[in-house]
Amino acid sequence: MRNILLVWDIDGTLIHSKGCGRRAMEQTFYKLFGIKNAFQQIQMSGRLDAWIVRDALIMHNIQEKNLAVFFDAYCELLQLEMKDAEASVPIQGIQELLQYIKDLSNIYHALGTGNIERGARIKLAPQDLNRYFPVGGYGDAALERWQIIEQAVKRSNEHYKVIFQPEDIYVIGDTPLDIGCGKTLGVKTIAVATGSHGLEELRKHEPDHLFANLENYHEFFRIFTDKEYL
Ligand SMILES: [Mg+2]
Repeated sequence: MRNILLVWDIDGTLIHSKGCGRRAMEQTFYKLFGIKNAFQQIQMSGRLDAWIVRDALIMHNIQEKNLAVFFDAYCELLQLEMKDAEASVPIQGIQELLQYIKDLSNIYHALGTGNIERGARIKLAPQDLNRYFPVGGYGDAALERWQIIEQAVKRSNEHYKVIFQPEDIYVIGDTPLDIGCGKTLGVKTIAVATGSHGLEELRKHEPDHLFANLENYHEFFRIFTDKEYL
């Protein structure tokens, strides 16, 4: 039986965090540097936290060495934001899908997210989703986004003691950037229109598989049964 690795994006794919990350970043910048709306001009969607914050620091003439201090304060504020029970909701169908996969011995999970690792864990905690993802690639360092996926695969190989083959690795995400990462690395891509991009927009980027949502997880698993993986 082949071993399959699913590399999951977080925001818009596993959960909707309703702008908690952005709010926590804005609050952190204000708390540390007294600047309001510091991220207003900065593109955040699908980008790495390290780049987002670095851009803001440069834009406001603050030394980049403050990056670590920023993230410490950010995690505290993000934690507060996420304490609100309604701050995040799982994408519909995701909990059922993860629960179902749990019993399949040849499917493994990793995170592949632009969030810093601590931020990712804070975002997934309210829905108790961290238990599915022992490893991942994160946005702590200012890497290219595809390098996060590469990192996730490398760590998965080590953690699960399985060498996953490119044709058995699936990047799952809600943006063209996620699809692009998979293509750069020569692995498979699954796009879901549960985030900020619609079905037709995602289709233009030619993912290997495309879903409006993951509510019908049997449809999702057809990807693998069709290939006689399961
Ligand atoms: Mg996303």
